[in-house]
Amino acid sequence: MTAKTRSEAHPAPIGARKARTPLAGKMREPKPAHRSSSLLRTRAGLLNATKQLSGPLWVAQFPGSKSIDDLTPKFRMCVEPFVAAMVAAGAKVTISATLRPPERMYLMHWSWRISHSQVKPWDVPPMPGVDIEWSHGSLAESIQAAQAMVAAYGTVTKPSLTSKHGKGTAIDMTIRWKGELTVKNAHDKAVTITSSPRNGMNPDLVRVGESYGVIKAAFSDDPPHWSNDGH
Ligand SMILES: [Zn+2]
Repeated sequence: MTAKTRSEAHPAPIGARKARTPLAGKMREPKPAHRSSSLLRTRAGLLNATKQLSGPLWVAQFPGSKSIDDLTPKFRMCVEPFVAAMVAAGAKVTISATLRPPERMYLMHWSWRISHSQVKPWDVPPMPGVDIEWSHGSLAESIQAAQAMVAAYGTVTKPSLTSKHGKGTAIDMTIRWKGELTVKNAHDKAVTITSSPRNGMNPDLVRVGESYGVIKAAFSDDPPHWSNDGH
């Protein structure tokens, strides 16, 4: 335990190891023993300087879309009339996400996993174009920063790296209404929903969505998520 804790608290050797390779190529004298440790430190510092520590500031980068227009044309033709029918029925529909760039999926996925101690920050694979440093001074700080990202993203369940959001075939929306909701399904039939809950998890509303080809997430722990096949 102690050995593990020590390596967790001091992940610096990883940076130092990274620094060695390019340095060795540039040095005329290849003798490792002659390399000054201050040079190594400087080099590692330069490398780290290009990276920005993880944290909620990342959430504003690689923004995702909240527009139905960014969905694939086929899925958009399912979502548009479904949302219009709900709004016409008096429901309040708030869209929080449609298309999501791969960089955002990467950040959401790995911040979730670090924050839930499913992976060590220094074991997260890099993504080209995303110069994030997941490792802070200690494991606790790294986890705290990842937790702040999860909170800022509003992530409610582990986001997939191959999420339907990346393909434009998923939408996150919060749906609410008061009393009864009489909503038209895709066959132009009025369906009166008297059951609970009065939100997107309502099984009767889920059936109405199905008629339009908008399928509630098969996984029950992601209330706002709908897609073209429930994934
Ligand atoms: Zn979603």
